[in-house]
Amino acid sequence: MAGKRQCLKAVTVFEGSYLGDNTVLDAGSRLECKICWWVYDPARGDPIWGVAPGTPFAELPPHWKCPNCDGAREQFMLLSD
Ligand SMILES: [Zn+2]
Repeated sequence: MAGKRQCLKAVTVFEGSYLGDNTVLDAGSRLECKICWWVYDPARGDPIWGVAPGTPFAELPPHWKCPNCDGAREQFMLLSD
């Protein structure tokens, strides 16, 4: 039986995308905004939103957005060092 097409993956997942899945995050994980490249570093926190240094990305307030471009947190990419 020739000519049968192989099933292609319909869904492409961006490698490193956070997509709201806190299980992929460590306490020290840094994440970068996909839109404006702003980086959240837990060691520094976020003075714009009043987030204290040492706050993991997973524990940011639910309403938190990128302080630079207002992008949704799901749009952040996990940085690997
Ligand atoms: Zn941004």
